[in-house]
Amino acid sequence: MYTKKGYKCCDKYDGQTNTIIQESGKHYAKAVCKYCNHFLKWLPNPNITDDVKKRNVKINKYIQCDILNEKQKKFLEDIQIKRFLTPKQSEYLQSIKIKYKNNLKI
Ligand SMILES: [Zn+2]
Repeated sequence: MYTKKGYKCCDKYDGQTNTIIQESGKHYAKAVCKYCNHFLKWLPNPNITDDVKKRNVKINKYIQCDILNEKQKKFLEDIQIKRFLTPKQSEYLQSIKIKYKNNLKI
């Protein structure tokens, strides 16, 4: 639901939208006006959002258990807000996990 105050793409617009799943590209889906099909906003993939939440639960355990150095801690805090990691970030995260897997049972 597009909630920007006073927004009108057409005379009929009342906040009702249609969701159009994207077959390609980096966006999962878009919300369009139910009446005129005007683009309103991109929608996140709900599955990926759950994956990010799960990843962050694990990352928080690392941050809280005080075994990391400042650089590693900063890195983990930085990637928590990201939906996708670059290959380099994934690799570094993986190296932290491997290094500390005996310190932390997760
Ligand atoms: Zn409209």
